[in-house]
Amino acid sequence: GRTVLVTGQYPIPTLAHLKTEIANLSAYGVGGSRGIGLEVSRGMAEAGANVAIAYRSSSKAGNEAAAELREKHGVKAIGYQADVSDPAANDDLVAKVVKDFGRLDVTVINAGISDCFDVIDSTPAKYREQLAVNLDGAFYSAQAAAKEFKKQGFGNIIFTTSISAVIVNRPQNQSVYNASKAGLLHLAKSLSIEWIDYCRINCISPGYIATEMVQYDPEEWKRQWLAETPNRRFGQPYELKGAYVFCASDASSFMTGGHIVIDGGYTVA
Ligand code: NDP
Repeated sequence: GRTVLVTGQYPIPTLAHLKTEIANLSAYGVGGSRGIGLEVSRGMAEAGANVAIAYRSSSKAGNEAAAELREKHGVKAIGYQADVSDPAANDDLVAKVVKDFGRLDVTVINAGISDCFDVIDSTPAKYREQLAVNLDGAFYSAQAAAKEFKKQGFGNIIFTTSISAVIVNRPQNQSVYNASKAGLLHLAKSLSIEWIDYCRINCISPGYIATEMVQYDPEEWKRQWLAETPNRRFGQPYELKGAYVFCASDASSFMTGGHIVIDGGYTVA
């Protein structure tokens, strides 16, 4: 019942339109067992893609998610264990996905961890822990997928970055997390040019999204976030999936090195 004014000559990509473009794709997401990654897996399956769901340790959640996608959407879906901070595990994972699915079209690099601490009291191990997953892990995952994309001559990578890549949120002590995400955003943009001949690469930066990652944040922080977020609420993981499906589909065919921010207005205010 809505009236939409369209300027320009191209049709608006409706979800049905996306569905026809994404059906028959094989997508795999690292960090797909919970939170944002689980909703992205659901979005891909709803749009008709076959989905490989990779996780580090939550095999029950990962396998249940795969079963849900098979039953609800009739797509092929399989869960895989792999720690993205291990380079060989990423290569093995891509090899298994290609063997099981026949091909790999889209990789969602979403695995991430967050720890808040005052850098002055931290140790090298505490510093390395977040970098090892958020930046090194994303690097290894992208490299493993790109080897396959180069061979087949096409591919698509979507990174989950964060508004922390571009702003310093308060009052959390998140310097290391912020650095990992800023590095990831620039790595992604750089790779989008380096691999331009065979791969599109885009980034999605969520604001504060209600997942397990943030559930133990102190109430005082949450109050401050809410006060600073123009629409006065946290995002839900399902509110992100449309953007991932868009980046995965041909509706975004001219988009590479792009960055979509989904944060309830936090970074504009
Ligand atoms: P969750 O903690 O809910 O989920 C994290 C996912 O990453 C899980 O599937 C987890 O697997 C996986 N994972 C973690 N470490 C590894 C690893 N070493 N190898 C493989 N998989 C791993 O987090 P969110 O859904 O909230 O976050 C997803 C992404 O979004 C992260 O990159 C995060 O930085 C980013 N983000 C989140 C925001 C938020 O407010 N929630 C805001 C901005 C960005 P397992 O289940 O096995 O542990």
